[in-house]
Parts: sequence; C-alpha cells; structure tokens
Amino acid sequence: MSVTNKTRKKILKNSAATILANAVANFRQVVPLLAGEFHNDLLEKVFHPMERIEMSFGPVMGDGEIHVVKAFIVRHSDALGPAKGGIRMSPVVTLDDVTGLAMEMTWKCALIGVPFGGGKSGIVADADTLSAFDKETIMRRFATMGFRHIGPQVYIPAPDMGTNERDMGYVKDAICYSHGQATTPGCYVTGKPVILGGIPGRRAATGRGVAICVVEALNKLGVNQDEATAVVQGFGNVGSFSALALAERGVKIIAAGDIYGAVYNPAGLDVPALDKHVTEARTVKGFTGGQEIDCREMLELPCDVLVPAATDSQITAENADRIKVKLIGEGANSPTTPQADEILNEKGITILPDILCNAGGVFVSYLEYTQETQQEQMTEDQVVTRLTRRMSDRLHLVWSLAQDRAITMRQAAMVHAIRTVCQARIARGYLT
Ligand code: NAD
Repeated sequence: MSVTNKTRKKILKNSAATILANAVANFRQVVPLLAGEFHNDLLEKVFHPMERIEMSFGPVMGDGEIHVVKAFIVRHSDALGPAKGGIRMSPVVTLDDVTGLAMEMTWKCALIGVPFGGGKSGIVADADTLSAFDKETIMRRFATMGFRHIGPQVYIPAPDMGTNERDMGYVKDAICYSHGQATTPGCYVTGKPVILGGIPGRRAATGRGVAICVVEALNKLGVNQDEATAVVQGFGNVGSFSALALAERGVKIIAAGDIYGAVYNPAGLDVPALDKHVTEARTVKGFTGGQEIDCREMLELPCDVLVPAATDSQITAENADRIKVKLIGEGANSPTTPQADEILNEKGITILPDILCNAGGVFVSYLEYTQETQQEQMTEDQVVTRLTRRMSDRLHLVWSLAQDRAITMRQAAMVHAIRTVCQARIARGYLT
C-alpha cells in the first residue's frame, strides 16, 4: 500500500468536511416542494437533530499506554421509531459528520418503509492501522460508554465505514456483559455475526440493494444490463458486494478502486478474483487482472454506471462536468455534493440517491431486528426475496413521483421521506 497514513488522512479529511452541509442543502432544496402540505414550523421541527452526544474514553491499549478516544452518538429523529444507523470509525469523523449522517438515516428509514428513526455513531480512530486487539478494546469501550444511549427502543447501531460484522459481535457481547446475561433482551445491534443472532445476507445487503436498484433503473433507461459497463469506487463492504452483485447480473465492471489505488480492465474485471485479492491484500492495488489507474481518473471513465461506494463528496463541482455516465447509483452516503448534483442533472445523468440506493442494508437490519425480537430464524433466500421486492418497489415509487412532478430522483426520494416523517409527527401529536 504505497499511500502513507499521513496522505490517507489528508485524502479522508478533504472529503469529510461537507457531510452535514450536503444533508442540510438536500433538505432545504425540497422544502418548497412540501410547503403546500405542511406548516413551515413542522418542517423545521423534523429537520433539527433531537440529541447529539459526545463521549471520550481512555482504555489501555496493546502498547500498555492509555489512549484517549473520542466518540459521538446522534439521534436525529424518533418520529417513526428507535434511531437506526451505523457506527463509523474514521480518524477524521466529527460530531457534525455524524449529525449529517443521522439526518440521512431518518430519511432513508422513512423512504424504505421501516419503523425506525435516524441515528449514527462515530469513533475517532483509524480502522486501517489499529491492531485487532486495539480495535476490539475500542469497540467494547464504545459499547459500555454508549450503553445508556443504545437499546432496542432507543438507538440500534450497525456497521458503517471502518466497522464490520465482527465489531458488532463485540458490541453485543459488551452489552450482554453489562447486563450479566448470555444474550440481550431484544435487539441492541444489527449486522452482527449470524452465530450471535445476526441474519444471513446482512453483510451483502447494501451492495445487493445497490445492484437491484441500478439494474432496474438501467432497464427503465432502455439499457440492457448484459451490455452495460460500470465503475465502482470503494471496495469495502458496500463496494465489493455492489460489484459482485452487478457482475452476477451481467454488468461488466471495468474498473474498481479504493483509497490506495484502482484497477482498470476494459474487457471486464474478474470480480470474484478481485474480491479474493482484496480479502488477502486489503486493497485492490496489486491485482494482476487489470492495469493500474489513478483513483480520481477512474471516476471519469466513460461507461454506463458509476457506483460511488467509498465516502462522501467524491463527485463535486470540480469533477462533475467530466463524469461521462448515464446513471449514478449512490452506494456511499452523500458521495455527490449539491453543486455537483446540479451539474449532473443538467447533463441529463440519472442519480439514484443514497437514501434509496443504499437502503438495502437498513432494510435487512430491520429483518434482523424483527427476527431477534420474535426469536425466529430467516434463511438467506427469504432475506434476498424480501430485499429484492422492497428495493424494487421503492425504486418504482420514487421513479413515478419524479416523473409525475418533473423533479429529480433525489428530490422525489426526499419528498416522500420527509412527508412520511411529518405524517408520523402529526400522528404522535405536537408535544414531542
Ligand atoms: P468500508 O470501510 O467497508 O469500505 C470503504 C471503502 O472505501 C474502502 O475500500 C476504502 O479504501 C475506500 N475509500 C475510503 N475513502 C476513500 C477515498 N477518499 N477514495 C477512494 N476510496 C476510498 O465502508 P463501507 O461500509 O463499505 O461504507 C462505504 C460507504 O457506504 C460509506 O459512505 C457508508 O456510510 C455507506 N454505507 C454503508 C452501509 C453498510 O451497510 N456498510 C450501508 C449504507 C451506506
């Protein structure tokens, strides 16, 4: 991995400054579209975060030293139910980032139709450089410190950038330990290992959902999926499963990249082989089934679909004009800035917004939540069937709304989501 840690941190920092600004702009943009339906004060009320918690803890780590770690939990809304949203571990994550991401979760849960509000956590640490021992220590401290704010009726975390299934196992175990019990009373965390009550297919769910949305949208645009080409940015949980699921559906993945580098093969990458390489090397760099290409240039390759599945603000006013695709399927949260959005819309590029396109993860988390609450077990086939039906249903709903009102897919998704949250607030009465 030739990118140094210092450079990595710089790349991450450059992109991390605008998550909240993007979320605020996306909300403000659609307020006029809802003004005839809801009073301004109600729209203002559903916009503001309910609770923003900042914590610090200082465990003794593997080197025998105390390390102070900062962490955040934000509950943006509980209008539809307990807050839901992943734990991001990044050296540059801020309370504002977590607030923006929690806000997005509110709209995402409302749009995909699950009884959850929006929440998110952040832990300021570098998952790429931590030892396994230190990461486990941090996850456990986060769970015990955050314990008062986590629970099946309050906030249910899940994996996000820098955290994974194994980390959710530690969260569950730390909470069990605090209760002095073998298991938790109800679902405290989703995306955990199947052996601990997780659900088959959760790990692949976000990427599968991206592929379902992208293929349906391609068909609507008159592009045959077997003739389509795609570029995927980010090869972590979302990017790898998006690439695998798109390739399974016949789409040719011509390039894929991560923070360390990118690979390009105009004849199509062997995605399962690339996935195997990344499992071993922890980067796409060094994969011999394609030629090396610059990560930023990769975004500008002419193809049918671009799937940004890395981090926020990757498509900006600076590069939007050079993007040459028909469709963007947002696997990451907030990968497109509002300024870039405008440019892409003018170019006639269809954008499947994050709150729709990457909602497969939270939908399957909901299945995990109900499975655990009802002490049932679902098979992966059942999960995939329900995921496919729900993603497809919401894609059609947002597509029709966009057509009927002559607005963009992002605006349509936001209109439906904010409307749902407002309706829930009205149904609860006005005291909260
Ligand atoms: P991950 O940590 O598993 O993978 C992130 C990938 O992006 C890695 O390959 C990393 O090298 C790459 N990356 C990070 N910064 C980059 C940059 N500046 N340029 C190029 N590559 C970069 O994370 P993930 O869980 O796959 O999440 C990716 C995105 O998807 C995030 O925005 C996250 O919020 C969003 N998301 C995740 C889930 C989920 O279920 N994990 C669900 C919905 C949305």
